[in-house]
Amino acid sequence: MKILVTGGAGFIGSNFCRYTLANSDDSVVIYDALTYAGNLSTIKDMQDGPHGSRVSFVHGDICDPVVLRDAMNDCQSVVHFAAESHVDRSIDGPGAFVRTNCIGTNVVMDVARQSQVERVVHISTDEVYGSIEEGHSVETDVLDPRSPYSASKAGSDLIALSYYSTYGLPVIVTRSSNNFGPYQYPEKVIPRFVTNLLGGQKVPLYGDGLNMRDWIYVDDNCAAVDTAFRKGSFGEIYNVGASREITNLELTHAVLEALGLGHDMIEPVADRLGHDRRYAVDCSKLRALGWQMERDFASALADTIDWYKNNQWWWSPLTGR
Ligand code: NAD
Repeated sequence: MKILVTGGAGFIGSNFCRYTLANSDDSVVIYDALTYAGNLSTIKDMQDGPHGSRVSFVHGDICDPVVLRDAMNDCQSVVHFAAESHVDRSIDGPGAFVRTNCIGTNVVMDVARQSQVERVVHISTDEVYGSIEEGHSVETDVLDPRSPYSASKAGSDLIALSYYSTYGLPVIVTRSSNNFGPYQYPEKVIPRFVTNLLGGQKVPLYGDGLNMRDWIYVDDNCAAVDTAFRKGSFGEIYNVGASREITNLELTHAVLEALGLGHDMIEPVADRLGHDRRYAVDCSKLRALGWQMERDFASALADTIDWYKNNQWWWSPLTGR
């Protein structure tokens, strides 16, 4: 099978392509606009590696139906990761988020419908449920997004699902918690903290540091997407999470400790506008399909930190260091 992977030159999309090449005989067509967050250096290992004959790359924008239709032409399925993904950037400029995440997703679904693909997975986020004080969000909960990022993702989920209800397009949606691992753009908290600290700089911690997030290692999310892709039912949504929430302060201490550094490397900064306090998702629906998490937090964090230590060639051009 040939799978078109939008956003495949970004963090999770590239890891999903690696996962697919290693665990199946499928081919991937990486479709990416190469925004600041997408880089050819992120996919070079796959193109040059043992599965290189099953990887192709198309430079294109998901808002461009002509290029996208051509790329999707001989693909049987689509996994749609491409998005503007950084909350802070959405606060500074919401327009790009509405364009790519809402309008772009509409184009992806429309072209998939015309191309009569056999299945489409739309990748979303736990942030669409909004901040919850206690308990866990389930897939049928009312959406309550509060940032331009999460609002544009919620819009994209509804657009994708409307193609199932209206046209019968075989759409499946996953909503994952925060991911970490190799090839994550160094503006996101874990790679930012690690690369700052490797360069002798302090780490900026928002507000009181007590916001809670549920961190999942990217390979576990890739396995979750793969499970939803191969075993999920059309028109259904599947939450993905690690069920181990920690505060940003605890996360910061874990990174500092792994690098043998102390509390003095923390620089408190003003909180993010409208900063959601807590997200937590119930993943029993996906577990019922056979997915289970493999990686514990401490060892996955240690591997991630080692990856950034050993792959400065990848991140230093992106941080300017
Ligand atoms: P990323 O920012 O690392 O990568 C996004 C990729 O999409 C980049 O390669 C970029 O070039 C590409 N892209 C952006 N606009 C495009 C356009 N108009 N046309 C074609 N390509 C375009 O993002 P990520 O962290 O890998 O996230 C991937 C998906 O997973 C997103 O949909 C995001 O909302 C979702 N998600 C991410 C997380 C996380 O913790 N990173 C958690 C839950 C959900």
